[in-house]
Amino acid sequence: MIVDKYNRIHNYLRISLTERCNLRCFYCMPEEGIELAPKSNLMTYEEIMGITRQFVELGVNKIRLTGGEPLVRKDAKYIINQLSSLPVELALTTNGIIADRFIDTFKLAKLNNINISLDTLDRDKFAIVTKRDYFDKVLSNIYLLLSEGFNVKINAVLIKEINLEELTDFIDLTKDLPLTIQFIEFMPFGGNKWDWDKGISRKTILNLVSEYYGSKNLIKIDDAPNDTAINYKIRNYLGSFGIISTVTNPFCSTCNRIRLTANGHIKNCLFSTEETDLLTPYRNGEDIKSIILKNVSSKYAERGGWNSFEELANPVNHNQNRSMILIGG
Ligand code: SAM
Ligand code: SF4
Repeated sequence: MIVDKYNRIHNYLRISLTERCNLRCFYCMPEEGIELAPKSNLMTYEEIMGITRQFVELGVNKIRLTGGEPLVRKDAKYIINQLSSLPVELALTTNGIIADRFIDTFKLAKLNNINISLDTLDRDKFAIVTKRDYFDKVLSNIYLLLSEGFNVKINAVLIKEINLEELTDFIDLTKDLPLTIQFIEFMPFGGNKWDWDKGISRKTILNLVSEYYGSKNLIKIDDAPNDTAINYKIRNYLGSFGIISTVTNPFCSTCNRIRLTANGHIKNCLFSTEETDLLTPYRNGEDIKSIILKNVSSKYAERGGWNSFEELANPVNHNQNRSMILIGG
């Protein structure tokens, strides 16, 4: 088992399949772009499988594919197919643009849990947030995945003066659709010009929701073990919504996640500025299990060692971290 010094068992691996993306969300991809790793430094399909098998032997039983945009990787179908032969629950986070091309692949791999990022229900705003015009494609793919029986969660980063006024429009989607909307607090990463004045806290969301629907109709529902979201629903609505409050109420005490970047580095926390290269030792035939165990045992109690809001908010600190697009959220 992969256990850290706070006795947290790490059984959940998030693998970034690529640093590339077909969107340019401003909170994720720095405006000036990013320096892509040379192809020779990225994990090949065989290396992803080989490294992942070591994690599985150490007790990982859940894998989420992310990126960049995981589905733009040319061999994404093959990787999904092969990973499904491992004794793990597979999940995916995607922007959804080309999800329709993968329906059969997902079904064959029993990949049922799909998070799709969509920050606005307005076509023009979508173009502002993502710098691309794929709103209709994303929305139609959300409906397609639902009609095909997948468990769909929509990830939305709420930002003042952009999409805050859509909070209840998103929740209204859950009235008749079996969807979960996950509102994610705007988080600071390298180069994303984070400004918490634009962020929306869990407390604000709950106040606005109670005011709009009436506090009697806001129902707290059970959270899954190790869930990062605190979950709710509106009385008599089919779906639900959750809030991921990494900035104002981090959930680090139950964290079970490890991240593997597209260039084969372990990051034991989204916010850690320390990472360990696994790919080079793997290529050299070294024992990577001991490297994995050592890396996780050094994990900080909270947010990569930034224990207070002030430390996290300090640009000198979070600008040492990768951009989110290079981590895999
Ligand atoms: N391209 C895929 C997608 O957009 O779903 C997967 C990668 S993306 C980095 C994963 C998630 O990270 C998305 O839901 C996105 O909204 C979230 N994310 C990116 N930057 C963020 C930030 N600064 N704060 C909060 N969430 C962020
Ligand atoms: Fe691409 Fe996802 Fe980042 Fe948007 S959030 S730029 S879709 S990786």
